[in-house]
Amino acid sequence: MSLADLPPLREALERHDLMARKSFGQHFLLDLNVTRKIARLAQVTEGDTVVEVGPGPGGLTRALLETGARVVAIEKDSRFLPLLAEVAEVADGRLELVEGDALKVDAAQAAGGPAHVVSNLPYNVGTQLLINWLTGPFRPLSMTLMFQKEVADRIVAQPDDDAYGRLAVIAQTLCEARTVMDLPAKAFTPPPKVASAVVRLVPKADPPPVEVVAALERVTAAAFGQRRKMLRSSLKALGGAALCERAGISPDARAEVIDLAGFLALAQATLDAAPL
Ligand code: SAM
Repeated sequence: MSLADLPPLREALERHDLMARKSFGQHFLLDLNVTRKIARLAQVTEGDTVVEVGPGPGGLTRALLETGARVVAIEKDSRFLPLLAEVAEVADGRLELVEGDALKVDAAQAAGGPAHVVSNLPYNVGTQLLINWLTGPFRPLSMTLMFQKEVADRIVAQPDDDAYGRLAVIAQTLCEARTVMDLPAKAFTPPPKVASAVVRLVPKADPPPVEVVAALERVTAAAFGQRRKMLRSSLKALGGAALCERAGISPDARAEVIDLAGFLALAQATLDAAPL
């Protein structure tokens, strides 16, 4: 048997008597044309290693395996493991199943080397997983991730957009990020309440040092925590107007108009000793 001989996803779900559970954020993609498109957008090729969070019934997993990649799939809901084991049987040893919570699993160790991440993320943990991959010990080569549209918009937002905030600044400082696909709710089984989008993030070659990123997190938390206030006031605890002046940023500006370079200058200024 080969991957092509596997039964349609709906049939596999029925045979294993599996129903989606809300508590696990389960909204499945059962159309292989859609999952193949996501695998193409991820630009995964033969010999790559891909970490997939939440394979569920395995539609995206199958599409990733079809590219020739090796897939390490982390699934929290143990009910899906027998179904996924059937996929592994026809995958020539290229599918490794890890039962566990992706927030706790050591993905670097599971991948065993450089890896891409491709996932139709469970919405309740999607943002946290992205932050972990952006700033934590496991740094994927690229991330192609399905989010609620509203979260996708927050990742790719530009200054002055309503969705512009901490997530956009941190994600875009560390990665090139763009929306590569929009999907209506009805593309999923069962359909969620909101539309979704796939965002592709590719880490920049020369990211700022970790201490600057940590400072950036402090500055953006303060600035966007009070986004309607002027920076002189929202950044008061970090140095207020004097900090802004050291960074070459107007203290009367609000967070929503400051671009990446501006936030980096503010972060750097918190680390520089104040002039005597
Ligand atoms: N990849 C499948 C697809 O596209 O049809 C399923 C996607 S569904 C939106 C999210 C999947 O993540 C489910 O299979 C769910 O059980 C799993 N999941 C939820 N929370 C998880 C966690 N913390 N760690 C690993 N998997 C999780």
